[in-house]
Amino acid sequence: MSKIGVLAVQGAFAEHEAVLRGLGAQPVELRERKDLEGIEGLVLPGGESTVQGKLLTELGMMEPLKAAVASGLPVLATCAGLILLAEKLENDPAVWLGTMPVVVRRNAYGRQLGSFTAEAPFKGLGTVEMIFIRAPEVVSTGPGVETLATVNGRIAAVAFGNQIGLAFHPELGRDSRIHALFLERVHAAGQRLRL
Ligand code: GLN
Repeated sequence: MSKIGVLAVQGAFAEHEAVLRGLGAQPVELRERKDLEGIEGLVLPGGESTVQGKLLTELGMMEPLKAAVASGLPVLATCAGLILLAEKLENDPAVWLGTMPVVVRRNAYGRQLGSFTAEAPFKGLGTVEMIFIRAPEVVSTGPGVETLATVNGRIAAVAFGNQIGLAFHPELGRDSRIHALFLERVHAAGQRLRL
């Protein structure tokens, strides 16, 4: 049973845990540094990226997570999580984990009316329902980044090595295929974070 760390300092983490459990994985809530020991994969949920980023730093989780992700620990990052992974933000000077060579625009669809649902093809899965909530957008990708989905020409999902970044919220729908894809990567990577 894969032990998956789910960042649980703020945001929509409980929904990810339920999907992971449904797929036979063991979610572990990450609230302090010692919770990282032994995780085989990482989920960065949606929420508010500035709050999450500051808490990651204050709680001593930023450096070990950054090192683990940079050396191949599989990550599934949704919405605010994608912002945490981005090497650069177009409209914010902050850089958090900075492990994915993409430029991301926060609140790219507008702050108030920026929530909507779309259906679009996702690489390897066919059509997927995508729920966007004050979503970010990947505005440019660096070398080695693969685009997994676009909605109306705008990038909604990317992969770089073992990092998957989504602008939308797969944990809020009924479809667990993206989490299953992530767990396949976790099995293939066979990594375990050691503090
Ligand atoms: N707008 C949020 C941010 O910039 C992300 C929204 C989300 O995670 N649903 O951090």
